[in-house]
Amino acid sequence: MLRFFRAPSQVEHESGRIWAASALALLAVMMALLLILRPPKTDLTPPPLRAEWLPYFETHVSSCRGSLSAAGFQTRIVPDLNRTPQCGYRDVVELMQPAGSAPIQTSCALAAGLALWRRNVVEPAAQRRFGQPLASINPLGAYACRRIAGRRDGRWSEHAHANAIDVGGFTLADGRTITVLQSWHTPALESAFLHDVRNGGCRIFQGVLSPDYNRAHANHLHLDMGAYKVCH
Ligand SMILES: [Zn+2]
Repeated sequence: MLRFFRAPSQVEHESGRIWAASALALLAVMMALLLILRPPKTDLTPPPLRAEWLPYFETHVSSCRGSLSAAGFQTRIVPDLNRTPQCGYRDVVELMQPAGSAPIQTSCALAAGLALWRRNVVEPAAQRRFGQPLASINPLGAYACRRIAGRRDGRWSEHAHANAIDVGGFTLADGRTITVLQSWHTPALESAFLHDVRNGGCRIFQGVLSPDYNRAHANHLHLDMGAYKVCH
């Protein structure tokens, strides 16, 4: 008589256990291999928009733009300008300003510095000193193919690579404009505001030059991301 359901023999029982253990071990090895060999996770999160990241942004423009975008600042890529070894630029961006003001074209690291300066220094100073939101930062110019201070010889300016900007003044939401030329020394309130934004700029940019530096800067704040740390 056939026995369909017989108890496994001792040998069959042992071999079943060995088989199950081997299968489990194989599964564990495969899972370990999968964990080891999986492709590295791509980190698409841009660095935070903070002053300590600005030097990194000088050579990592896509991270710079990503960081600006994540912080709510819009940029647009500007076509490269190849002129001479001393002049021209690559990877320049246009930083949009709110309220329909003219956009600012600079290197991305400098644009990131300007965005930080606007958000963390200029806007709070406008509120503190005037009780007004800021409407715009008013640049006098950024890119210019020239040497420092417009001399005929000597080092080329950071302006020659759009890595510097001259800011002539600021406009508040009520339409009032404060210029460096007219208000650096007086009246007291405007002067305090301008000194606030100069001092705050020194914590963000590499180079900051104001009317305190020399007469060539009587009408603007020079801000740059060059190699030299200066604050006057
Ligand atoms: Zn300048």
